Amino acid sequence: MVTRNESATGAPGAPDIDVVVVGAGFAGLYLLYRLRGLGFPTKVIESADDVGGTWYWNRYPGARCDIESIDYSYSFDPELETEWQWSERYATQPEILRYLGHVADKHALRRDIEFSTRVEAARWDGGASLWRLRTDRGDEIRCRFYVMASGCLSLPKALDIEGADRFAGEAYYTSRWPHRSVDFSGKRVAVIGTGSSAIQSIPIIAQQAAELTVFQRTPNFSRPAKNGPVSAAKKAAFDANPRAYREAARMSGAGVPREVPMVRALQVSAAERLAKYEEAYESGDLLALSGTFTDIGANPEANETVCEFLRGKIRSIVRDPETAEALCPKNHFYGTKRPCIDTNYFETFNLPHVRLVDLRKDPIRTITEKGIDTASRSFEFDAIVFATGFDAMTGAIVAVDIEGRDGVALARKWADGPKQYLGLMTSGFPNFFTITGPGSPSVLSNMVVSIEQHVDWVSACLVHMREQHLTTIEPTPTAEVGWVQHVNDFADITLFPRANSWYMGANVPGKARVFLPYVGGVDRYRKTCAEVVSRGYLGFAFDGPGGARCSDGVIRRVQPDVAIVLEAIEELGVPALDTLSVENARALTVVMAAERPPGPQVGEVVDAALPGAAGPLAYRLYRPTGAGPHPIVVYFHGGGWVLGGRDSDDPFCRDLCVRSGAILVSVDSRHAPESRFPAAVDDGFAAVRWIAAHAEALGGRPGQLAVCGWSAGGNIAAVVCQLARDAGGPRIAGQVLVTPVTDCDLTRESYVANGEGYGLTASLTRWFWDHYADPADRRRPKASPLRAADLSNLPPALVVTCEFDPLRDEGAAYAAALAAAGVDARHLPCRGQMHTSLPSVDVIRSAAAARAEIGTALRRFFGVSTPAAIES
Ligand code: FAD
Ligand code: NAP
Repeated sequence: MVTRNESATGAPGAPDIDVVVVGAGFAGLYLLYRLRGLGFPTKVIESADDVGGTWYWNRYPGARCDIESIDYSYSFDPELETEWQWSERYATQPEILRYLGHVADKHALRRDIEFSTRVEAARWDGGASLWRLRTDRGDEIRCRFYVMASGCLSLPKALDIEGADRFAGEAYYTSRWPHRSVDFSGKRVAVIGTGSSAIQSIPIIAQQAAELTVFQRTPNFSRPAKNGPVSAAKKAAFDANPRAYREAARMSGAGVPREVPMVRALQVSAAERLAKYEEAYESGDLLALSGTFTDIGANPEANETVCEFLRGKIRSIVRDPETAEALCPKNHFYGTKRPCIDTNYFETFNLPHVRLVDLRKDPIRTITEKGIDTASRSFEFDAIVFATGFDAMTGAIVAVDIEGRDGVALARKWADGPKQYLGLMTSGFPNFFTITGPGSPSVLSNMVVSIEQHVDWVSACLVHMREQHLTTIEPTPTAEVGWVQHVNDFADITLFPRANSWYMGANVPGKARVFLPYVGGVDRYRKTCAEVVSRGYLGFAFDGPGGARCSDGVIRRVQPDVAIVLEAIEELGVPALDTLSVENARALTVVMAAERPPGPQVGEVVDAALPGAAGPLAYRLYRPTGAGPHPIVVYFHGGGWVLGGRDSDDPFCRDLCVRSGAILVSVDSRHAPESRFPAAVDDGFAAVRWIAAHAEALGGRPGQLAVCGWSAGGNIAAVVCQLARDAGGPRIAGQVLVTPVTDCDLTRESYVANGEGYGLTASLTRWFWDHYADPADRRRPKASPLRAADLSNLPPALVVTCEFDPLRDEGAAYAAALAAAGVDARHLPCRGQMHTSLPSVDVIRSAAAARAEIGTALRRFFGVSTPAAIES
């Protein structure tokens, strides 16, 4: 029992204890060990009557881990690694429970755990700067710090099937399995659900039951676990250097050491893909299939190749074709609902006494006294097993009536989805921590690795507060909003949000649909948490005798895929272009372009030449599918007037062609320094005139011509519009200027803020200008269109700028100047993007929405309002 009111001071209103931790699973046990060692009086409250958490409650037949036990184990106590030997690759529930019991015994943890006690409410007492917790025993405990180590998957989902309490036979819940042995021999048994718990238990229940009927709403991807003794290779890899092995796990994406794929699934032949999938399938490793190629988690087409591979396996195992087909997942992408590994799951459906009821065809109407009624028939059972899952990630937390500052209820604050900073804390709730809370890698990782990292972070934070004489800590609203945005941004570049999964809260009726964990990976997340600390606990506000302090801000502002690209460039050691000769810079851009995804298919691609201002210019024409004639967009590539060509922007042109439904004509122009200002713009104008004059021959619709350009190509497009206006034609229906160069003033704020670290640097911009134009020429409107005396009567414009681009401010200035001159001009600022984001089709997926807006703008220029048929 907790000894109450025995605080160090004994003063009224003083805490009973420093820290209360809720939960005695992997998280609570380690937290208790760590905090005790650091000298913080700590109590754990646990509703079960012993330690174990998940492994205490989930005692269903077949329960075992799906991350190999060598990995799914504590690293904080190296002695444990030698004194505890796992008997199987994937240990059973009893063995994992014994392990946790052993840890509790070894470190005498039970003496500070109050079992069979549920925390029901927690209220922040701002006056005394402490939490008042109320338990189901009616006790109040006052503590300075309150930590929910209450588990991501600990609160069973409330049953949402009509009549569930009416059944007169035996009812079992996988998540609350009895402690006695359950014998299904000779019985007619139903299992509802086909998630991980069901997939593990079904083959074993089938061995006992006289009849087994599986009620399936959503088929799941599963493959053989290939369980057995711990493999010699795995053990050798661990034993060779356990500390290095653990460190590799911490610095991996999922908390298990592994090689990172470098190749896209759609980049290799079907045979090569298949070979990789076979190898992953045979490995029995849960994470292996997702780790075969880089694009499985993000690209629907790539993911579908895995789905079809696995469906093929199901069809080859299950003999009855109708049952096999019903067991084939078809409504979600692989990995977007947690996949499973099993022992004889699909084989079980070949047994004569096992049948599958496909609830998509024949839904459950009600549970009756005798069994289950579906829409078309009545079933009678002796026992029903509910393997229906959990109110995941937030359920156990908001099940406690938690009230923060100013009486705000956490459940109300989180009604539209959890708002957390780093998955660790939430604003308005001082000194309240969650272990593996929403917005942290948690369930998308080896949980033990993520738990240890959170516990270490929280412990270090408490030490910091003690040393600095600080009483309270709380995240700032700015930091919290920024983190929630980042979590969503990351999810949005993956396929995860497309599934009705518990990751999305979709399994619980009425729960907000928000992607709950952080998909950025354990390594990235860990570095972020460390950076927060190294930047003076960025985004946290402290108060106490040591003084109030807050280093406010947002830890991650660039889009996640932008960050990934920048990291890759740094890792590859790609030299800065402005340190190279022009020749080598051109060669490097060609090499890098060869590695990109190709962009979408278009109807036809034609390479040809047209007469420029001083000789022929190569162009590439992209024709949409479908009967013409089509409007025409003349496109000017980027590359600072020095680099690039038809090939450099090829994926972007394809994308624009599909999105706009127009013919794209990507025209080369003479390059600097060989042909300096105004060669590029003279060529651009010559090309537009020629294309306008030959629109019909090109398959275009006469009179429907727009221009578009990226970067220096945006400069050419803008200048061409001014030249066409001044020359009285050709008529241009609209201009799309994507992160354009509009002025030669390189001192704007965006050059200062974004001049380094975001791909295009201030120094490279200067290099381009130096090659292109003399200082006097740069100020002419033909080089700096923003300086034109008259910007009226120009075509309607869409000007796209990116937040982390040196050119951001001049683009915004041009959009504003056009609008001020009466032009129908729209400015599209892209949050978190960099200069090269828009053309990086299928690489920077977060820019897809902006690409879609460009397509819509082009269609609008041509008077078309139907949306483009493109997925992302
Ligand atoms: P838990 O183990 O869930 O412990 C939380 C404890 O808090 C529970 O005992 C609960 O009773 C207690 N509690 C909650 N609320 C209160 C309250 N208000 N008052 C008092 N006590 C409370 N993860 C992996 O990485 N690999 C795996 O192979 C794996 N297998 C899994 C298998 C199953 C069947 C399940 C359900 C989950 C699995 N997980 C796995 C996820 C697993 O939950 C975590 O790995 C890990 O065990 C979580 O530990 P925890 O201490 O954070 O939470
Ligand atoms: P789950 O994955 O959420 O599966 C629940 C199953 O019940 C789903 O098939 C679901 O169908 C079905 N269901 C829920 N409500 C239903 C209803 N009203 N009518 C019909 N069917 C209904 O839950 P779980 O299997 O317990 O697993 C939860 C998580 O725990 C796993 O994803 C995993 O992270 C962890 N776990 C791991 C292991 C392991 O192998 N180590 C084992 C068990 C659990 P829908 O899909 O249509 O909602």
